[in-house]
Amino acid sequence: MRKTTPEITIVICDVCGNDDKYSHSHHGGLIIKRDALDFSGAAVADASVKRDLCNACLLRIEKAINNEAGLIKKEKETKE
Ligand SMILES: [Zn+2]
Repeated sequence: MRKTTPEITIVICDVCGNDDKYSHSHHGGLIIKRDALDFSGAAVADASVKRDLCNACLLRIEKAINNEAGLIKKEKETKE
């Protein structure tokens, strides 16, 4: 007899440390792509930020990004 168990991926949140082992909701991640530049402005290294996130942290960080983007947009509109 032969039985194959499917692979299970457990994501441990880089922010709160919770895992999604028993969660049936989403998990995800955040990648901020960024290049480190040398004095002449040439990209010399990957300075990206990558985080695995549980559903709760994913929602909160998404909300924070949207809120901050809204504030930046308002600041720009006020200056114009
Ligand atoms: Zn989390």
